[in-house]
Amino acid sequence: MEKQYDIIVAGSGISGCLSAAGAAKGGAKVLLLDRNDYSQVGKKTNWGWVCGDAVAKTHVDFVNKEIGLKLTEPVLDVEVEGVQVLSPDLSRKFQFEGAGYSLDRPKLAKVLVDFAIKSGAEYLPHHEVEGPIIEDGKVAGVYGRDEKNEQYRVNAKLVIDCLGVSSTIRRKLPPNNYIENMISTDDIESTGRYIYHFDPAGEDLSYYDKKNALIHLNQQLAPGGYGWVFPKSNGRVNIGIGVEKKSLELRNAKLSKKDTLHMLIDQYVEWNPLIKNVRVDETDANGKGYWSVTVRRQFDSLVFPGYMGAGDSMAMPNPISAGGIGPAMTAGAIAGKVAAEAVAAKDTSMDFLWKYNRRYNEVYGNKTAGLEVFRIYLQSLNNELINYGMQKFLTEEEAIAISYGNIPDITISGTFSKVLSGIANINAFKNLLSAVKRMKEMNRLYERYPESPASFDAWKKIVNENMHEVKERFKPNPI
Ligand SMILES: Cc1cc2nc3c(=O)[nH]c(=O)nc-3n(C[C@H](O)[C@H](O)[C@H](O)COP(=O)(O)OP(=O)(O)OC[C@H]3O[C@@H](n4cnc5c(N)ncnc54)[C@H](O)[C@@H]3O)c2cc1C
Repeated sequence: MEKQYDIIVAGSGISGCLSAAGAAKGGAKVLLLDRNDYSQVGKKTNWGWVCGDAVAKTHVDFVNKEIGLKLTEPVLDVEVEGVQVLSPDLSRKFQFEGAGYSLDRPKLAKVLVDFAIKSGAEYLPHHEVEGPIIEDGKVAGVYGRDEKNEQYRVNAKLVIDCLGVSSTIRRKLPPNNYIENMISTDDIESTGRYIYHFDPAGEDLSYYDKKNALIHLNQQLAPGGYGWVFPKSNGRVNIGIGVEKKSLELRNAKLSKKDTLHMLIDQYVEWNPLIKNVRVDETDANGKGYWSVTVRRQFDSLVFPGYMGAGDSMAMPNPISAGGIGPAMTAGAIAGKVAAEAVAAKDTSMDFLWKYNRRYNEVYGNKTAGLEVFRIYLQSLNNELINYGMQKFLTEEEAIAISYGNIPDITISGTFSKVLSGIANINAFKNLLSAVKRMKEMNRLYERYPESPASFDAWKKIVNENMHEVKERFKPNPI
């Protein structure tokens, strides 16, 4: 490739298209690369656009305001009132999040890439990205294979990595203290979902609700994760589960089972008395799929010399809900703007790019470390303790506050009226207090996110120490 670009955006998924649009709108010469062709743009794997398809309205409103992207039907397939989280015995239901949408992911992908092109980005499909070009310790472009399977190399002043969770650029960055090459399996959920046409066998809002996205906490059905039933248009449903590897192994060992993710999804569908007479929705060959999603805080830094990352490549999904569409949209819109400013200032150093770290942290990232703590705590509870905890430990308001990363004041004395019985419950409650204290500490640390790379190492050391202690205290214990 002969042409020179200011910015290469690798990956034309959600974060990639919005990064490319933002950078092009900011006046930069942008190349947007992806391995798929236009008809399959945004498709994550051979299994399709694998996703639960749910996004909060607040995220959709943010990109509209930040970058001028207005999403409408049919991309916004169904509007829901919120997300409801149910206890394993279904006796307790907390309403989270507020209004949101179930999206049509293949249609969303086309709207996004068209938006990037219209904003001025050059879009090049059929280009597999194999790794970063490194010159003088700085990312200076990418290399890979084109549609004829021939090697290509293309240089740019800045690369934005939007290749998703298994990014080939991030994994091949030179070892450094800012961006991790690999993500621990403890922080990954194996997930899968089906999009089904079905005939509802009666009415029961604990199993299917046209107006709400349902989440089932259940360590036997979905160890270390949860199951979901999200409504879609035309009598369809998006149904799936996420599981954590260690929790699944422990659960299988204790129950003498050999269940796999695939078997568990089928069991979850079977368990639901309302979702009957199912037929896979074959539209876009997107009816059944499996993929991974991270449930940790985003990487502590999202930049490296000549490099920025957004979306799943930087582990941005929410640690409790695994919702990554909103963070990918938010990060993309911010990253593109900052990238264009860096090119205009002729400065793609870490010092300049650091403002992206700070802005993402302000807008979304500052609560995710606390949420990671809560996710690790939740994985240490079996069904009985989750049932009990959702009845006695937390009010709905407190649980909602936690889900937003706003930590309520829960103390032993303040919650004395929350009757505790049995040593397991007392220990679980003490652990909740400890988790909440850690969440507060994490939130305070992220309020003091480093102003520049110079103070990053010292700050990161404290973050790592805190998280290590949390992982030592709360071990997966699904059964
Ligand atoms: C089963 C499941 C359910 C989920 N449910 C929800 C949900 O309900 N709500 C929610 O908010 N989030 C959900 N998520 C997470 C959400 O789907 C992701 O966070 C989101 O897709 C991230 O967008 P992205 O642009 O960062 O990456 P991706 O969507 O992964 O896009 C990456 C792009 O890069 C391209 N690419 C990858 N590698 C290469 C390469 N080597 N060369 C060239 N191109 C490449 C891909 O083709 C793709 O276009 C779910 C995830 C899974 C797996």
